[in-house]
Amino acid sequence: MRAVTEKEIRASFVNCSRGEAKRLSLPRDLDQRPWEDLDFLGWRDHTAQERAYLVVERGDGLVGVALRLTTARVGLRRNMCSVCLTTHPGRGVALMAAPKARGKGRDEGTVGLYLCADFACSLYIRGKKEPEPGGRFAEALTMEEQISRASANLGGFLDRVSA
Ligand SMILES: [Zn+2]
Repeated sequence: MRAVTEKEIRASFVNCSRGEAKRLSLPRDLDQRPWEDLDFLGWRDHTAQERAYLVVERGDGLVGVALRLTTARVGLRRNMCSVCLTTHPGRGVALMAAPKARGKGRDEGTVGLYLCADFACSLYIRGKKEPEPGGRFAEALTMEEQISRASANLGGFLDRVSA
């Protein structure tokens, strides 16, 4: 994705109020992110550990989603990220819940997503970051195909948030 600015990020959120979007904590290393290798931007709120955010560039512009990390207990078994299909042990995969966009304060449900807790899906697919051994399947798909699949998986999630 292209490098995006703080202003663009704050204007992109579809499932929180304008006030919340204005106040939320942005990544402190925005200018050092490896943008050319990223399919989306994701970060944990450093002032509130249960909050996280995703910003994705879609055909019709940037889409930002505010997420809550669920407190589900994670055992020793491995979990799979539903975007890049990397598996991680323990807390390496987080279940994140997004309030649906229509909610606007009313409780109209949430949409869940299992995601690499470090938001590094794009880097795992590109081989720029290695998960723990056994974290990546030997894939018949090319890297480009895996990138397309991850975008489709993430797009499906964004569609459900906005539906
Ligand atoms: Zn992932």
